[in-house]
Amino acid sequence: MIANSTPSFHFSQRAARTVEQPIGYLMAQAVDNPDVISLAAGLVDYPTLPSETASKLLGDILNDPKRSKIALQYGTTEGLGDLRRMLLEHIASLDEVKVTELDASPDDVVITTGSQQSLFILTDLLVDPGDIVITAWPSYFVYTGALASFGARVRSVEMDEQGMVPESLERVLGEIAEAGELERVKIVYVCSYHQNPTGLTLAESRRPQALDIVKRYSRGHRILLLEDAAYRELTYAGTSPPSIKRWDTENRYVALAQTFSKPFAPGLKTGYVLLPRDLVEPMLLQKGSHDFGSVNLVQHLLAEAMRQGVYAEHVQMLCDHYTHKRDAMLEALDEHLGDFEPGQTRWTHPTGGLYVWLTLPSRLDTGRGSKLFDQAISEGVLYVPGAFCYPADSARTAPCHHMRLSFGTAGIDQIREGVKRLGRAIRAVGGDQ
Ligand code: PMP
Repeated sequence: MIANSTPSFHFSQRAARTVEQPIGYLMAQAVDNPDVISLAAGLVDYPTLPSETASKLLGDILNDPKRSKIALQYGTTEGLGDLRRMLLEHIASLDEVKVTELDASPDDVVITTGSQQSLFILTDLLVDPGDIVITAWPSYFVYTGALASFGARVRSVEMDEQGMVPESLERVLGEIAEAGELERVKIVYVCSYHQNPTGLTLAESRRPQALDIVKRYSRGHRILLLEDAAYRELTYAGTSPPSIKRWDTENRYVALAQTFSKPFAPGLKTGYVLLPRDLVEPMLLQKGSHDFGSVNLVQHLLAEAMRQGVYAEHVQMLCDHYTHKRDAMLEALDEHLGDFEPGQTRWTHPTGGLYVWLTLPSRLDTGRGSKLFDQAISEGVLYVPGAFCYPADSARTAPCHHMRLSFGTAGIDQIREGVKRLGRAIRAVGGDQ
């Protein structure tokens, strides 16, 4: 116990602006109600985690007397050279181009402690309190939570089935320019594949358009297009479009952040970012003060996984696995909600990722502490209230009749049962009209 006479800590302004991530509340609900089926957790599926592969790769590294010493020593701030070379090739192959066609070198790739670190450091580099960051509406709540702690102002852009709407981006930037505040706009953040929370992918034709808009509004200074491609490799239907970065042929405007968390193992907490060259040095200076390098042993493991081809095999296995889970969720939604106020009740049909975004009639509040949220818990199912995913934007009010459903950790039977329970909760609160 701290005696009453002990003065309290005087927290920094940033600490004071940092609020608890809503996921903390949901996790507490899951712990308090152990029988609930969580369609809230955005985690990858336990049975898919590559324990045996990781154990073998680690063995290969640690049983080699020379290599084990290198891997157990500190690495460099930018990360393992071999891995950065392979990752540039990996990005090029996902974009279906030759590395030589990218105006980029392995020196433009930085290995990070999860892609969250890329998002955080790049924002820290560019954003002062009061600066403006443009995001989709809705958006990934951990990033928008970080924006709040930086004191950024958020302006949001409409989405439709094809992802962020370019005309809306143009309009928002136009309004900001008209208000004489263009110099405060620092970042346009786009989760370009199977977005968290909607599962929607930015259509290919919109990608060069979005980049072109960012370029046109980069007048006195460059605006960074921060492309978060965390779910890119988890694509289950068709092919996914090239990254927005692919159109940034001079490597000037787009930072492409990717991760091993979703396609391999989140516990390795390793991501990477391909950066415009003049952001590399400033990023490394910041990363130098964060951790002066992400975990070296893990980088050796991942380099080995890529070299031996087991990474690619794992991604293929995951895609097959999640295809079934996504299908189970979509079928269950059809079965249990298909006839509930059709048109007003609808959901996305993601081609990858871990999420489905459900829209209910606007009278049905899905928020924390709402009748529906409580009813869902008592039926034994947990979801993420949509309101968590709308950043505070002074220009508009967040809707509260959506929810994010994840088919990540629940098994197929649980997904079916969870959606059935959800259907019951919605009918109990919303009535059959
Ligand atoms: N971006 C998005 C859209 C995410 O959903 C996540 C994880 N939930 C991340 C980035 C960060 O993941 P990590 O730091 O583990 O790479």
